[in-house]
Amino acid sequence: MSVVIVTGVPGVGKSTVMNAAQDYGYKIVNFGSTMFEEAQKEGVENRDDMRKLPIEKQQSLQKQAGERISQMGDVVVDTHASILTPSGYMPGLPEWTISALKPNIIVLVEATAQEIAGRRSKDPSRMRDADDIDMHQKVNRDYAETAASIVGATVSIVENHDNQIEIAVEQFRKVLSK
Ligand code: AMP
Ligand code: MG
Repeated sequence: MSVVIVTGVPGVGKSTVMNAAQDYGYKIVNFGSTMFEEAQKEGVENRDDMRKLPIEKQQSLQKQAGERISQMGDVVVDTHASILTPSGYMPGLPEWTISALKPNIIVLVEATAQEIAGRRSKDPSRMRDADDIDMHQKVNRDYAETAASIVGATVSIVENHDNQIEIAVEQFRKVLSK
């Protein structure tokens, strides 16, 4: 059994990088989509509204999603080390989530703040926040390391720079091939 968690700030291109995992027989699961399936039953209409819900509500959706994904076997999980909420950075991998998922590896996909801002401006389908990208990436490293130390996972950083997607995919493949 092997679980890989892939994180990165909105717009860093983590979904693109992780599509390479399919070649290795992993199933890709999007944590936000699994949460949103539950949230929709309770009337939430847009996935980008979930991070504005009361923290207790987000945590209960997070718990339901974590439990569902933990039943799925070998997966690569597309998620976030931290979520920028109106009341601050909420851990995406708190103790109850990381202990349910028990990942072997936590990957952080990173790029420069300038590159990420540029990618966000080209994606009108999503409602991204105008936040401090460098700060968010720093918080993500801190939270990912804390989560990793609970379960003994390794942490790996994959750089996804402009016009270098092949290099990012290659780095990610190396992380996956045991
Ligand atoms: P994404 O499509 O990956 O940007 O995720 C959509 C939304 O799902 C995020 O903005 C969060 O509200 C929520 N989400 C994703 N992963 C997590 C997580 N591990 N914990 C809490 N919320 C999450
Ligand atoms: Mg995505």
